[in-house]
Amino acid sequence: MLEKIDHIGIAVKSIAEARKYYEQALGLTCEKEEVVESQMVKTAFFRVGEVHIELLEPTDEKSPIAAFLEKRGEGIHHIAFRTNDITRQLDQARTGGCRLIHEVPFEGAGGKQVAFLHPKSSFGVLTEFCAKGIKV
Ligand code: ZN
Repeated sequence: MLEKIDHIGIAVKSIAEARKYYEQALGLTCEKEEVVESQMVKTAFFRVGEVHIELLEPTDEKSPIAAFLEKRGEGIHHIAFRTNDITRQLDQARTGGCRLIHEVPFEGAGGKQVAFLHPKSSFGVLTEFCAKGIKV
């Protein structure tokens, strides 16, 4: 079951630069910065009520975020839904005719299990499912 919108991912060229806007202009506090090696990204999280903003900066030119910035420029990259059962959620998406980018969840920022649906089957919105903790 999808429980809530967990976070909105925003691609930026530089977290150091973008932080000034989120901190000084919006008055938000950065909760943490973390590098996710597997995705070649640096992330920074800001909490707004129940939802987080996740800034994504590429750490390598081969990063999927580098490709996104090249093609689309800075801006909203994905929407992440929190689910209580990521495997079942992926099964449902697959059964519902959705193309998956990840058949099997992987470990994202904060040790969450995450997987992405293909934006071509989700009407242009790159969609992430995320679940707390690691399921074995
Ligand atoms: Zn995300």
